[in-house]
Amino acid sequence: MKHVLFASLLAISAAGAQPKWIEAESFANPGGWVLDTQFIDIMGSPYLMAHGMGKPVKDAETEVELPAGEYTLWARVKNWVGPWDAKGTPGRFEILVNGETLKHEFGVTGKDWQWEKAGPVKVSGKTKIALHDLTGFDGRVDALILSSDAGFTPSNDVAATNKMRRELLGLPDKAPETSEYDLVVVGGGYSGMGAAISGARQGLKVAFIQDRPVLGGNGSSEIQVWAQGGTRRGLYPHLGEIVEEFADRASNSPAADPQEFNDKLKEDTVRAEKTTDLFLNTHVYGVEMAKDGKNIRSVIGLNTKTGTETRFVGKLFVDCTGHGTVGALAGAEFMMEEKGRMGMSNMWVMKNLHKPVSWPKTPWALPLTLEDFPEPKAMAPVGKKNAANQSGFDLGYNPVPNPEEYVHGEWFWESGFDKHPINDLELIRDHNFRAVYGAVSALKTLKADKYADYDLTWLAFIGGPRESRRIVGDMILNGEDMVKGVIYPDGCVPTTWDQDLHYPKEQYAKNFPDNPFISRAEFGKHTDRKNGYPVPYRCFYSKDIGNLFMAGRTISVERHALGSTRVMRTCGMMGEVVGKAAWICVRHHTTPRGVYEQYLDILKDLMSQPGAMRRDTLEGNLYMPANAKKLPEVAQDGINPAKLVGIVIDDKEAELNGKWAHGEGLKPFVGEYYSYGSEKGASARFAFSVKQSGNYEVRIFFQPHENRAKAAPVTVLSADGEKTQTVDQTKKAPLPQGAYSLGTFKFNAGEEAAVIFRTTGAGGNVHLDAVQVLPAK
Ligand SMILES: Cc1cc2nc3c(=O)[nH]c(=O)nc-3n(C[C@H](O)[C@H](O)[C@H](O)COP(=O)(O)OP(=O)(O)OC[C@H]3O[C@@H](n4cnc5c(N)ncnc54)[C@H](O)[C@@H]3O)c2cc1C
Repeated sequence: MKHVLFASLLAISAAGAQPKWIEAESFANPGGWVLDTQFIDIMGSPYLMAHGMGKPVKDAETEVELPAGEYTLWARVKNWVGPWDAKGTPGRFEILVNGETLKHEFGVTGKDWQWEKAGPVKVSGKTKIALHDLTGFDGRVDALILSSDAGFTPSNDVAATNKMRRELLGLPDKAPETSEYDLVVVGGGYSGMGAAISGARQGLKVAFIQDRPVLGGNGSSEIQVWAQGGTRRGLYPHLGEIVEEFADRASNSPAADPQEFNDKLKEDTVRAEKTTDLFLNTHVYGVEMAKDGKNIRSVIGLNTKTGTETRFVGKLFVDCTGHGTVGALAGAEFMMEEKGRMGMSNMWVMKNLHKPVSWPKTPWALPLTLEDFPEPKAMAPVGKKNAANQSGFDLGYNPVPNPEEYVHGEWFWESGFDKHPINDLELIRDHNFRAVYGAVSALKTLKADKYADYDLTWLAFIGGPRESRRIVGDMILNGEDMVKGVIYPDGCVPTTWDQDLHYPKEQYAKNFPDNPFISRAEFGKHTDRKNGYPVPYRCFYSKDIGNLFMAGRTISVERHALGSTRVMRTCGMMGEVVGKAAWICVRHHTTPRGVYEQYLDILKDLMSQPGAMRRDTLEGNLYMPANAKKLPEVAQDGINPAKLVGIVIDDKEAELNGKWAHGEGLKPFVGEYYSYGSEKGASARFAFSVKQSGNYEVRIFFQPHENRAKAAPVTVLSADGEKTQTVDQTKKAPLPQGAYSLGTFKFNAGEEAAVIFRTTGAGGNVHLDAVQVLPAK
């Protein structure tokens, strides 16, 4: 392939004029086309995409200077449903040269990225080029070539295309380099932000590289995942203070208004650090190793808008890419499941516009019926769903007045379980598109009575990946240690999320066995939510590459442990630790491993300091700046049973028979968690005895949810015998904190009494939290 290309290029040189290469992402005015940078590592480049969700987007326009003559135009495009031989052509678009539409519809044939030809066109001097979308359904274009040689044919091979791109754009073989940074952070999700801010506050000169125009990764407005994980607890309760400075307080995931994810707060918090240079729109695709072959000298970043490249030179590097890209490029050993991984999600939102909204036919989408996916749910009113919102912290946005007007496709719209998380990533995203468009078509045609007035208002074109490469560190944390509570000397970042892994939901998978698109979460073993399990520092650096740290999804953990450590506030705290360790490396001329072996006490001391503390020079002392941000109180998930009056029996002390799961999602709850279950025949006995005979009020605690029991049978065993009543746990309990009165009962001193819950006939999950017994008034 390469051979053919070179031959043709030489021929052109001989003929005189070189072909003109135009990057789509460099168009002066992208119009309504979005910049997609997710698949550079597989197809070679950022590209423009007409993501209008069924409505053609505005033209992208640019102007180029060309010698007068007759040209053939080539466009590198993709018929994105080609890989499935799907009926129809969603991604069609036209190209206009000086206002004249070329006679070729692009994006209609083929199965992969390919060059398509149109023309010839006559031009002279300044030439206007426009991309004219025809569908609003994700037509895409990487680059254009205008060639005056009618015999010129570019190769479809990715490597050959990239070589030609470099030549025609005149990029130097070796990209220019920066001066040396102390710390180069690659990837701008929560983990990267934690590392960049923490490193800067230790006086390090930081380069912070992110390939999107916004920070936040999965927690940005582009992807809209809620940041979870308890901060500010456990062995080092100041860890998480930096995260809380930039974390959003979004009420729904995804939300009615993307602003809830507060990209601005994230960027402002990073830009406030004067020793940090932030490089947005920069994708790291290569590394340059030091002469020893064991350390990284620089990472090579591609500017996703201009196509120019830079080598970012550093003493230390942090891989926060989520994909372990830097580690893999440097040759670090990594782990990755062959199949059965967690997948990628592209979440979505529909809004009720209260007037009929048309929706085009989508024969190329997945042919879904209403049985193939769960009906999207209305959003929760702002402030109800997310406890963080109740802390009084400034939300940083004005809540949408009627979030219930919206329905959303949430986290479980997930696919790619058995596909390769990097090489198949574009196929996974496009499969998600086919699923969502198929679902919208089904809702609007098969359930038109409800959805005729709804429009698809948001579909994330940037996917949220969950599981990819994990770089091997000096220690691989396994899930069992976490459950048993084995504490290591370098244990630090508290992980509080249960071991949550995702699998295709069987109910919806049967019609789409090749790539199911609806998942279920399986919560494995319980994690200590109150204090968190302290993840060891040795999971945060590569065992192979001397100057490489990791933070976020890509740390050195076995898969079950990843189920817990992957949530974003936890990832952010890993970054905080790495930033502090990097200072020790620079100040004491040591390596990430050296920090563990020789300077662990210093790291422990730094982790014990407030996140707002900073030093102005590498040698300077830490101090608390006068303008340090005030943080909200640590949110309390649990009601302390010791603070409730009367006799209190928590579900932790109840005698449980049959299958009951623990939960912490419905807040507040008494103690460390609540239990719930629906297995037929299961029961729970909350036993107690009173010290003085008399009449007592008996209360139970629960939080409502639509999947809870409509008629939970609850029996009180008192001096009067057994009395059973049913409680509707789908409805809010009338008393404060989720308390519900079962009435007044007589109990004799010293006799065993009990409240017994049963699942049989309950019609949903029975929710057990606590029983309270109070002297009757
Ligand atoms: C739908 C969904 C629901 C989830 N639910 C929750 C939840 O409720 N709460 C929760 O806390 N977590 C949740 N998670 C998990 C969580 O989002 C991830 O594990 C988390 O984002 C990991 O953070 P990170 O910083 O490691 O990576 P990311 O958030 O993925 O950030 C990595 C960033 O690096 C950038 N990048 C990647 N490669 C390069 C490169 N080569 N050069 C430059 N930049 C690069 C990416 O663009 C991205 O912005 C969910 C995930 C998904 C997908």
